[in-house]
Amino acid sequence: MTYTFEDLNTQALGGTWRDGNGSRRMENYNPYSGQLLGAAASASPDDLHAAYESADQVQKEWNELNPYKRRDMLLELAAVLEKRESEITELIIDELGGTRLKAGFEIGLVKDMIKEAATYPLRMNGQILPSPVDGKENRVYQMPVGVVGVISPFNFPFFLSMKSVVTAVGAGNGVVIKPHEDTPVTGGTMIVQLFEEAGFPKGLVNAVLLDIGEVGDLFVSHPLNKVISFTGSTAVGKKIGELAGRYLKKASLELGGNSALVVLDDADVDYAVSAAVFSRFTHQGQICMSANRILVHESIKETFLEKYKETVASLKVGDPREEDTIIGPLINKKQADTLMKIIEEGIEEGAVPLLKGEADGSLVSPTILTEVTPDMKAAREELFGPAVSVLTFRTDEEALAIANASDYGLSGAIHTEDIERGAELAKRMETGMIHINDGTINDEPIVAFGGEKMSGIGRLNGDESLDAFTTKKWISVQHT
Ligand code: NAD
Repeated sequence: MTYTFEDLNTQALGGTWRDGNGSRRMENYNPYSGQLLGAAASASPDDLHAAYESADQVQKEWNELNPYKRRDMLLELAAVLEKRESEITELIIDELGGTRLKAGFEIGLVKDMIKEAATYPLRMNGQILPSPVDGKENRVYQMPVGVVGVISPFNFPFFLSMKSVVTAVGAGNGVVIKPHEDTPVTGGTMIVQLFEEAGFPKGLVNAVLLDIGEVGDLFVSHPLNKVISFTGSTAVGKKIGELAGRYLKKASLELGGNSALVVLDDADVDYAVSAAVFSRFTHQGQICMSANRILVHESIKETFLEKYKETVASLKVGDPREEDTIIGPLINKKQADTLMKIIEEGIEEGAVPLLKGEADGSLVSPTILTEVTPDMKAAREELFGPAVSVLTFRTDEEALAIANASDYGLSGAIHTEDIERGAELAKRMETGMIHINDGTINDEPIVAFGGEKMSGIGRLNGDESLDAFTTKKWISVQHT
C-alpha cells in the first residue's frame, strides 16, 4: 500500500474513511511549490460526534485486551513506522516543507515515543492502602481516562500529534485528533493509517479535519472527551484552557516560547556558535524551543558574531527535497509576511541587521538582528522563522534579568566552561527546561517536557504523560 495525499485527505471517523459532511473544502498545499496536495470536505458537528462515539466505544474493547498484547501492538506500530519511513519522510517534506534533516529528526522522535508508550500497558498499577477503620481495605486503581482529544500544530505535526496519541493509547485510551488545517495528513490521517496497519481496533484512533468556525467549541466541550491535549500558540491555548475549565476537562497545554541561549564570557565560542545555529535555524526557526534570543557577553561579542554570521550565511535556503537544504519554506506566505513585519519593526526601533533576510513567497533567508534591547518587539515576541535577536550583557545577573524578561518560559541554554556557574544560573531561569552547553531544542521520551509562565501548563513524556492520560479510582472494601 502506498499513501497518496488524495486517499489520506479524508476523515478517519469511527473506523471508516469518508469525507466529512461539513461545508468547507479543506485544501492542503505544498508550501514550497504551491501545488495542491489534496482536499476533503470538513467534518460537521455530527461527524465529530461520530468520532468521539467511536473512540469511546472502541476504547473499552482496547482496554480489555491483555496488557502484554497491547504492548506488542505498540511495538508492531514501531515496526510499521520503520517500514514506511522513507515514504513518511517524503510526506513531511511535501506537506510542511520540512527538510530531509528535519523529517529524520521528527521521525526519530516518534519512534522513541512509541517505544516509551509501549511500556505503559505494563506500568499501569494500583495500591493497597491501610485504613484507620477496622476491616476496611483501600484499593486505588490507575485507569485510562477514556477518550483524549488531541489538537496539534503545523510545525512538528507527526511528532506533536503522536506524542499525545501514542501515549494516550498506551495508557488504554481512545483518541480523536484534530490536526492543523495545513498538516491534515502528517498530523492526522496518516497516523490513523499507521494504527490500522499495525492491527489496532478500527475507530480507536480517529482524525477529524475540521474548521473551528464551523464546529465552534465542540471539539473541547464534547462530553465524551475527558482530557484535551493541546499543542500550539499561547493565544489559542488560553482559549482552550478557558473552555476546558468551563467544562471541567483536564487540559495539557504546550504553548509558545521565546528561548534565550546565553553565551557566558568563559564559553567555548565555536561550540556555542554551532549550538546557536542549530537552535535557531532548524526547521527554519519554526520550533517552540527555538533560540529566539542569543545573549552574548560583551567581551566575546565580536568573535561570536563574526563566526555566527559566517555560518548562518552559508546555510542553504531553498527546495526542502534537496539533501543539503537547511532552510526550507515557512508553512505559508502569511507566516513569512508576519516575520518580515517584525524584522522591519525591529530595524525601525533601532536594531541593526548583521544579516538581512528576504522573502520570496514562503521562503525566507536568515536575518541576524544585533543591538536589540529587551523592550523591542523582536526580543519580546516569538519570531517563529529564520530570524534571531542578539542582545549583550556584562554580568551573570544582567544575563539572567534579560533572559527572564519574557512572558514565555519554555526552554533555554547556557554556555560556559564552569558547569556549576551554569547550573546556578539555570536554577534561576524562569523556564521549564534549560540546557547547559547544548542547544535550546531538546526532547527526550522519559524526561518531563513543558513550560512555565505563558508557555503552558503541565508536563508530558515518561511518567508525566502516563499521569496526564490516566485517572485514579478508590475502591474500598469493608470486610464484615
Ligand atoms: P495555533 O495555536 O495557531 O494552532 C494549533 C492548533 O490549534 C491547530 O490545530 C489549530 O487549527 C487549532 N486551533 C486554532 N484555533 C482553535 C480553537 N479556537 N479551538 C480549537 N482549536 C483551535 O499554533 P500553530 O501556528 O499551529 O503552531 C505554532 C505555535 O505552537 C507556536 O506558538 C509554537 O511555539 C507552539 N508550539 C508549542 C509547542 C510546545 O511543545 N510547547 C510545540 C510546537 C509548537
